[in-house]
Amino acid sequence: MEHVLVIGGGIAGVSTAYLLSKQGFRVTVVDKCMDVGCETSFLNGGLLCPSLSYPWSNTSAIPVALQSAFANDKNRQAIRLNPALISSALAWRWMGSFAWNMAPWKVASNHVASYNLCEYSLKCMKEEKDQGVLFTALGSLQVFGIEASALARKSVMDRMKNSKTEILNWLEIKQLVPVIETKVQYGVLSHGDTSGDVFKFTTSLKRLCDPDKVRFLPNTSIEGLEIKNKTILHAVTSTGSKMHADKYVVATGNGAPPLAVLAGDVLLSLPVKGYSVHVPVSEASLMYNVCDDIGKFYCSPVPGPAVRLSAFAEIGYSDTTPHPDRGTALIEMANDRFEPGFLLKEQAVVHACCRPQTPDDLPVIGPSANIKNLWYVTTSTSSFPNMN
Ligand SMILES: Cc1cc2nc3c(=O)[nH]c(=O)nc-3n(C[C@H](O)[C@H](O)[C@H](O)COP(=O)(O)OP(=O)(O)OC[C@H]3O[C@@H](n4cnc5c(N)ncnc54)[C@H](O)[C@@H]3O)c2cc1C
Repeated sequence: MEHVLVIGGGIAGVSTAYLLSKQGFRVTVVDKCMDVGCETSFLNGGLLCPSLSYPWSNTSAIPVALQSAFANDKNRQAIRLNPALISSALAWRWMGSFAWNMAPWKVASNHVASYNLCEYSLKCMKEEKDQGVLFTALGSLQVFGIEASALARKSVMDRMKNSKTEILNWLEIKQLVPVIETKVQYGVLSHGDTSGDVFKFTTSLKRLCDPDKVRFLPNTSIEGLEIKNKTILHAVTSTGSKMHADKYVVATGNGAPPLAVLAGDVLLSLPVKGYSVHVPVSEASLMYNVCDDIGKFYCSPVPGPAVRLSAFAEIGYSDTTPHPDRGTALIEMANDRFEPGFLLKEQAVVHACCRPQTPDDLPVIGPSANIKNLWYVTTSTSSFPNMN
């Protein structure tokens, strides 16, 4: 039986291990933390939304970045760029690639790739539905301040073959999401979306792995790769011990670019810090994700009853300490949108984490360009890993 060493136990690594073991491989998953799902897969926005697969790198990012730069309330800035990036060659390369990916034909092809991957991943996840993985939302409601934005979003989604979207007016919005308070004129309802808990998914998938085939090794950080004739002989841990496998998969999220360098590959990915807030709610009345294009935040129902709020992209920031004012700003943005008393604000848990962001908004999944027995499974914002 071939042995695969999966480095990283987030949703990407655990899903990879689970599927490889089902295909007859023996797998070891190592993670530098004490258990799986301790970094970005710990608490995210909870959105499982093919309708949000439209790539981030498109020309509408420019006005959003400008509005953010000149925002009166800096705590509500949707986008922030770390000034330290100016001296980073990798960051300039990333930004160049981001700009190139704004070309209309790139946006169109990235959108198709991202949408297909989202749909495929959601299908794979739903196959585990009966094993205790929860899917809460019945769809997503995207709300817009101007009609043109709603029509534009519907028209790009209508190009995707399985997408089912509808334009809603205020009365229809209110019927669907009774707790919406502020009058929002333009909504797009997407039927194919849902929401779920990334940590619960990752940990329950770990439990589903056959213990005879998958071994989990916590507190093990891979810091080196011993390579000969374009083949990895060993992965080297921080304590200097060597781990041998026939094949190696790097699924280390933000930790993937430094390991790729050891293999002679370049993974063009920057950490992008974002906020996710878990807020209990007074009643389980939110049945749809609310994706607020006006305030640039997302709200998804999760069991509890509770919601996850998520927002903000702080490009090039890698520390995961939440700034209390940013957390409060996000809660207030959502609170302005919903009926008073719906969000139990005082019980909110504010969390910040960094997603590995590629310039085309697509994950890097596939073989190394240099090393024969090395693969990458690194996720980006809107996509869960392709499990082939
Ligand atoms: C605020 C925010 C909200 C988000 N909301 C959503 C959402 O609503 N929907 C959605 O689809 N996506 C969302 N995302 C993105 C999504 O959460 C991530 O893409 C996903 O969790 C990343 O999973 P991963 O397994 O690639 O990385 P991680 O979960 O970060 O896992 C990588 C693992 O590798 C380990 N590791 C790193 N380096 C090493 C090493 N050298 N040796 C050993 N182990 C190592 C780490 O300890 C970690 O456990 C959000 C991201 C953010 C930041």
